[in-house]
Amino acid sequence: MDNRKYRQGSFGEPVRSPLKPWEIVKIVGELGGYGVNFHDNDLLPIDASDSEKEAILKDFRKALADYDVQVPMATTNLFGDPIFKDGAFTSNDARVRAYALQKTMNAMDLGAGLGAKTYVFWGGREGTEVDASKDPRDGIKYFRDAIDFLCEYSTEQGYGMKFALEAKPNEPRGDIYFPTTGNYLGFIETLAHPEMVGVNPEVAHETMAGLNFFHAVGQAIEAGKLFHIDLNDQRPGRYDQDFRFGSESFKICFFLVQLLENSGYDGPRHFDAHAYRTEDLDGVKAFAAGCMRTYLILKEKAERWNKDAEIQGLLKEIKVSDPELESLCKGYSSDKARALKARNFDRKGIASKGLQYERLDQLTCEIIYGVR
Ligand code: MN
Ligand code: CA
Repeated sequence: MDNRKYRQGSFGEPVRSPLKPWEIVKIVGELGGYGVNFHDNDLLPIDASDSEKEAILKDFRKALADYDVQVPMATTNLFGDPIFKDGAFTSNDARVRAYALQKTMNAMDLGAGLGAKTYVFWGGREGTEVDASKDPRDGIKYFRDAIDFLCEYSTEQGYGMKFALEAKPNEPRGDIYFPTTGNYLGFIETLAHPEMVGVNPEVAHETMAGLNFFHAVGQAIEAGKLFHIDLNDQRPGRYDQDFRFGSESFKICFFLVQLLENSGYDGPRHFDAHAYRTEDLDGVKAFAAGCMRTYLILKEKAERWNKDAEIQGLLKEIKVSDPELESLCKGYSSDKARALKARNFDRKGIASKGLQYERLDQLTCEIIYGVR
């Protein structure tokens, strides 16, 4: 539910008139969507009066009830207002850092009041163009102080929120701190309450930097830290395109859906994407429906892949097991180290075997292409 135009990628004036928050809820509900979420100022403009806020909230709550739409997640806009021109939690100015905390607590109150259980942090301005301006260690320390403070706030208020940190390499800053999901996974372990904090990876953000998003999500799941996900699509090396889910990188999106479904991930399948600038309201609806439909198509294809006898046969051949060696390599002891060092390996024989990945990948492609 992002009505604000803040991305560098979108040159030009708005091409559609903004929708009111309740109208967005209606559209999502009529399309069969589960939920909506918002930055605080998507819902309540930063300069709205108390009575304006009340009126917007009243309409919004009514639409949530009328169309049976949930608010699973909320977040703070800490990048739009000029006060955040040099960062929010990581600003050099103590007054800006304090205002960012105040704004986030207010936004958490708003989100909690609407049922949000996940709170996302995307630090759009938390970075630099001029590295002379800040030691990155200070930026990281400031960010840690803020997250530690807000964890305590959530606990004290009884909100029971889980925090999800969203990485992005750059845009709108020249460079943003914590450029990848992996950076955040390292950082989380240094927090006062690491159990409350996980990640919210976004397809576009890792892909911009030419990284494999499927791998990033795999690491997050393996660490028990995938608390939320932003699904969209992107070509590598471009601005943050936020395209309709599955519109560009078919294979990565296929494996991503398969991973989410096979892993038992139980968080929202959340789309953080934008319709093309060419579209009118009907196009926006087609875009939203397309995100959901493509997810379900890929889910069905993943099941087909899981059940494909030829694919499963190839996978079985690829995985060479050797119980004796596996036990030698797991759980160190000096005996095991000695035995391993004394072992002779048929290096050339092992390397000479072809792995049939061409066949495996072609079969995978044929499933995605819809001919298998
Ligand atoms: Mn994006
Ligand atoms: Ca996002």
